[in-house]
Amino acid sequence: MADADVLVVGGGPAGSSVAYALARAGIEVHIVDRARFPRPKPCAEYLSPEASRILDAMGALAPVEQSGAAALAGIHVRAPNGAVIAGDFVAAHGFKGFRDRGLSVRREVLDQILLDRARAAGARVTEGVRITDVLRDDTNRVCGVATLVDGKPAEIRARLVVAADGLRSVVAKRLGLARALRWPRRLALVTHYANVGDVGEHGEMHVERDGYVGIADVGNGQTTVALVVPASRAREIGGDRAAFLDRWLASRPHLAPRFARAERVSPVIATGPFASHTRRAWAPGVALVGDAADFFDPFTGEGIYSALRGGEMLAASAQHALSARTARDADHALARYDAARRAEFRGKWIVERVIGAVVGSVPLINRAARSLSARKDLADLLIGVTGDFVPAAEVIRLGYLWRVFGPAQQGSGSGV
Ligand SMILES: Cc1cc2nc3c(=O)[nH]c(=O)nc-3n(C[C@H](O)[C@H](O)[C@H](O)COP(=O)(O)OP(=O)(O)OC[C@H]3O[C@@H](n4cnc5c(N)ncnc54)[C@H](O)[C@@H]3O)c2cc1C
Repeated sequence: MADADVLVVGGGPAGSSVAYALARAGIEVHIVDRARFPRPKPCAEYLSPEASRILDAMGALAPVEQSGAAALAGIHVRAPNGAVIAGDFVAAHGFKGFRDRGLSVRREVLDQILLDRARAAGARVTEGVRITDVLRDDTNRVCGVATLVDGKPAEIRARLVVAADGLRSVVAKRLGLARALRWPRRLALVTHYANVGDVGEHGEMHVERDGYVGIADVGNGQTTVALVVPASRAREIGGDRAAFLDRWLASRPHLAPRFARAERVSPVIATGPFASHTRRAWAPGVALVGDAADFFDPFTGEGIYSALRGGEMLAASAQHALSARTARDADHALARYDAARRAEFRGKWIVERVIGAVVGSVPLINRAARSLSARKDLADLLIGVTGDFVPAAEVIRLGYLWRVFGPAQQGSGSGV
């Protein structure tokens, strides 16, 4: 006998999004998370303008804005040669996001608000429950999960299990669906500072020869800093992440003066390697969403939007799966979710992978920044794609790529 119609493993953006929509549709949903909220999550904490559409639909936009979240007008990407790609969300290309600005908000705040919205919609939430395995019935269908609560094993059964348990999803692993990507292998160190100099209304990405750092106002006088370096530097980071981060920032002449008076206001947390992929985002009785289904690299800052949007899409298919007459029809509903997800995100996956390759190659990022710093229209298009309101096809056209990477363009890059 099922304890709930749907068991959602993980109460991050993906889990809260799918649970909110299902609970609103009158479905009995139970979210379990190993953490107790508010909990930290390594993230650069940027939300695209289009993410606000889903926050609004969940009744979360007003509380997020009232929490003091910062509004971002666009993104500046600085290449190792000093050239800057300066893209704005409001631009002459004619595409418009749900909001003119992106948002930047601490994950402790955002994720708590989203989880509260799911709870208010009727979802049951249990914190401090770690999932250790999936349960299968005699037809090999997933019918629940094995858990550990305060060290004691237990089981929770459900008609459908949703794996929203993020990177290194236990559910995806137990089902044999997870595949760690060999490239790019990167690690991240994330923290918050007060008193960083010259933090403006644009999110910043500074690409260096040995990694990149994202810097943005995150509201309430704080600045989020997310450093991403090759996984080969793990040994050097060792036990003292803060010292590594301090050294890294202090050794960049264009950043060091801005951090001269800065004080760290949260612990430095680490994560990685994070590139992972699943063969498919479902199996009989279970569907994967958010990072549990796919995550590549944080550079484009689209993980939260993809998690929220994936949650919306899965909620629609999950309702079909739950009302299906046969197990086969339920499987078809989940397979359709997987196909719809691929169709929706395919363009972005290509853009993410191209950007991932360019960021990992100094000559390529220098070339792209030189071209795009001289062509604001092209920079705005690219930032609009990462803002989730310009179709990815706009920048994976041959003409666009030729203008960025073709023979040297007129004009030189501007410094920050
Ligand atoms: C360095 C870095 C920077 C990033 N910057 C950005 C950015 O600026 N903008 C952006 O949009 N995205 C960014 N991302 C990506 C973004 O953080 C993720 O895509 C997003 O959090 C995915 O949401 P999710 O709900 O799928 O997973 P998560 O937010 O990770 O939530 C998963 C939840 O599952 C729970 N859980 C995990 N395992 C278990 C278990 N066994 N049992 C029970 N519960 C479990 C966890 O406690 C957690 O609460 C960044 C990622 C990294 C690594």
